[in-house]
Amino acid sequence: MRLRRESMLRHPSRTQTNDSSRTSIINLRMPTIFTHPAVPLALAVGLGRNAIPSRLLTAGVAASILPDVDVVAFSLGVPYGSAFGHRGFTHSLAFAAAVGFVGALFHRALGSTRIRAAAFLFLATASHGALDALTTGGSAIAFLWPWSEARYFAPVQVIEVSPIGLRRFLSQRGVDVILSELAWVWSTCALAALLLRLAQRVALAFKQSPA
Ligand SMILES: [Zn+2]
Repeated sequence: MRLRRESMLRHPSRTQTNDSSRTSIINLRMPTIFTHPAVPLALAVGLGRNAIPSRLLTAGVAASILPDVDVVAFSLGVPYGSAFGHRGFTHSLAFAAAVGFVGALFHRALGSTRIRAAAFLFLATASHGALDALTTGGSAIAFLWPWSEARYFAPVQVIEVSPIGLRRFLSQRGVDVILSELAWVWSTCALAALLLRLAQRVALAFKQSPA
């Protein structure tokens, strides 16, 4: 996917980094926490329980949410534009690789092979930054940290950024976000899961058919 290098914020007027607006930054700049797990769930449904056992899937769901642990940077006073700010190093491919590496170390506990645990957790974690890069607001993503602190958005942004404060979420804005995520993320993931299953059925049918 061709990525577009961007300045830090798509809507600077709504994302000033002074203390009074810190909460609004946190509340407005991410897909919902319920949507990031769509990718590992789709992979698990598409590949089946044998490939992705329940413990590995649970770890994948956690890994897909993990990058947003960086919102603590706001309360610690880390500037938005810092590599250690929101959508910084925890959203990078290097961080996803580190999570995959940890998965490989604990593959037995996850009920999987080393390669499969590493690949699944890498994809689950990396998908977080990819989804964030498709959102209509907030900071771009530091995919290439630590080699570069440049931030990138996807060529198109289609997913509405989400409020996570309960009061904001229970509003028309929250409804818009949910509809946007259903349309762009969940439907795409459901289709991908279906195609993966279909591909497996076809491969099995070819394997079982007489030569
Ligand atoms: Zn994020």
